[in-house]
Amino acid sequence: MNEFIPPAKPLIGDEERAAVDRVMRSGMIAQGPEVAAFEQEFADHFGLGRSCIAVNSGTSGLHLGLLSSGIKAGDEVIVPSFTFAATANSVALTGATPIFADIDPATFCLDPASVAAAITPRTKAIMPVHLYGHPADMTGLQALADQHGLMLFEDAAQAHGASLHGTPVGAFGTFAMFSLYPTKNMTSGEGGMVSVANDEVARLLRLYRNQGMQRQYENEVVGFNNRMTDIHAAIGRVQLTKVGGWTTQRQSNAAFLTANLEGVTPPQVAEGATHVYHQYTVRVPDDRDGLAAALKDEYNIGSGMFYPIPNHRLAPFQADVDLPQTERAARECLSLPVHPSVDQEGLERIVEAVNKLASAGV
Ligand SMILES: *Cc1c(COP(=O)(O)O)cnc(C)c1O
Repeated sequence: MNEFIPPAKPLIGDEERAAVDRVMRSGMIAQGPEVAAFEQEFADHFGLGRSCIAVNSGTSGLHLGLLSSGIKAGDEVIVPSFTFAATANSVALTGATPIFADIDPATFCLDPASVAAAITPRTKAIMPVHLYGHPADMTGLQALADQHGLMLFEDAAQAHGASLHGTPVGAFGTFAMFSLYPTKNMTSGEGGMVSVANDEVARLLRLYRNQGMQRQYENEVVGFNNRMTDIHAAIGRVQLTKVGGWTTQRQSNAAFLTANLEGVTPPQVAEGATHVYHQYTVRVPDDRDGLAAALKDEYNIGSGMFYPIPNHRLAPFQADVDLPQTERAARECLSLPVHPSVDQEGLERIVEAVNKLASAGV
């Protein structure tokens, strides 16, 4: 059988290994100069024009971003249900309530019309997800936020380098979070980067990250230990020099798949959007699960279902809401390998397998 094509593959090279070794040899491994350099280089690389703050995971980044923006018990934050549970989890961890809205079937991102219908007197903010690396409709959501006096946040966990009408994701909201988990478009091992629009939110975020201290032992608020280590930052700094090339490769892999796949609906790209293809997600209207199983069993090709159970139906949330586009996407979506390690032969194998299976009605 052909070699397995995994659905994702972190790329760690000699440069990352050398960077880790350099930090280990320095004898200073906790948060220090590497983290500070990584924060500055991240903001510069993605053209964010604002402060970036590194933390130990993307989920910590969302949690601290929400707390620093003043989200608390009794508040409501509107989020998509069609996302990884970290989006709603981070809202719930502040004591606030995640309110689930539906998605636009073309982009899989929050639909402003559904968000508008979910606004109540308790709504404080909207937190879209740039799902699969496609920017959410920030123009429509910003207009809604302005109209109702709400804050706008961004879950950009999957969208390093994506943009809308030339503005990079991470430069829209009061804060935005980028995940640095190994399967994301770039990694630091584990980690998260938060970009912040104003100095007070940035100050609070740095306090919460470090037990509430700016100066040692002069605690100002109750805080966490959500610091990134210099070891992780050193990996992330190297990955920053590579992520641009990887994104170009993802986009060219996606273009090949879209030009050649038959029998499934390829991902759409909204006008003015730059998609960075964290995932290449097609719709399989008939038997998505059967197609995924046959890809694996007959062709040794991995794929992913992101996400088969919408958050509003998960045990911790159990919200009684009607989200038809979310339900349909959860049934139909299948993500095919698009990462930079998939070579031309791999792309051709994926096309041949999907086209054969789809035309056979699997
Ligand atoms: C990965 C991810 C997160 C969480 O990031 P971690 O670094 O794994 O904590 C949050 N939201 C979305 C949409 C994600 O894909």
